[in-house]
Amino acid sequence: MPAGKSLQDRLSAGEKVFAAEGYMFEFNKRGYLKSGAMVPEVVIEHPDLVTKMHEEFVHAGSDVVLAFTYYGNRHKLQVIGRQDEVEQLNRKALKMAREVADNTGTLMAGNLSNTTVFDPSDKDTVDTVNAMFKEQVIWAKDEKADFIVGETFYSLAEAMLSLEAIKAYGDGLPAVVNIAPTAKGHTVDDVPLEEACRKLEEAGAAVVGLNCSRGPKAMVPLLKRVRQACKGPISALPVPYRTNEEIITYQMFKDPYTEQYTFPSNMAQFQCSRNEIEFFGNACKEIGVQYIGLCCGNTSDYFRLLCETCGKTTKASRYTTDMSNHYLNTDKGLSEYNAKVRKALLGL
Ligand SMILES: [Zn+2]
Repeated sequence: MPAGKSLQDRLSAGEKVFAAEGYMFEFNKRGYLKSGAMVPEVVIEHPDLVTKMHEEFVHAGSDVVLAFTYYGNRHKLQVIGRQDEVEQLNRKALKMAREVADNTGTLMAGNLSNTTVFDPSDKDTVDTVNAMFKEQVIWAKDEKADFIVGETFYSLAEAMLSLEAIKAYGDGLPAVVNIAPTAKGHTVDDVPLEEACRKLEEAGAAVVGLNCSRGPKAMVPLLKRVRQACKGPISALPVPYRTNEEIITYQMFKDPYTEQYTFPSNMAQFQCSRNEIEFFGNACKEIGVQYIGLCCGNTSDYFRLLCETCGKTTKASRYTTDMSNHYLNTDKGLSEYNAKVRKALLGL
């Protein structure tokens, strides 16, 4: 399929760009990724499934095929003793994403993330992070990414390192850089979130915004502040979990029976309803968020609904729920027997 417009052409024309994420959680739920170390080994071990998930997300409306290299950095591979495979994993993930993007006329993005080794007070870790970002950017550029996403950064300093690496080694590829909001309203290095986004924009990021940690209700107030602080396109990719004023991040949820934290693998009880996804889509329209997605916990069902709420019909929209042909639809008049079934089901 012919390549569509570039990211920047789409954004400068005022279009929305939809970006499905959440590969990590979804593969964990499906039994192909181990939560804890959270390394995307599935890229090497079951590449066909990764391609399928890319295709499924495009079917549900994603304009972006994000190469599954989240936590695919050298340190993370080292944690599970597979550091020798870091380049193989990255290149394979990028090639598969490129192929799906080419076949569907979508955009392919490389992916950098928080490294989990960064400590701004320790120069050695800064050097380690720089080296890891450098090699991942070079692989993404080699494998023909259309742009690179750096995301889930808790500090402005680490986010800035990712942006600097994309600028230095990405041969002009646009950067989308997202901060992960904590419960505090500022980064872990004490910069108000909207100011961190503004600084990233001023340093040359094509899109800046927020991803992960907070669900729609707890992220939307921050997005308004980011919109006011920044001039260019902004991004929002909350987690589809019911965080609120008290339980602000999804890491804070506790199971009511055990009082134990539920992140990352006991989260089903806190999933958003469809109405909360609609709330987020409508908020994006109202605030003027252009790069729109969902992070950990995303599913095709949520993503199709998000796109539809924002005015985009997806390939999956053909199968969007329509109860007008359901045998218990009261508008059409129920047979006596089906009326009895309905009453029995509803306990009436
Ligand atoms: Zn996430």
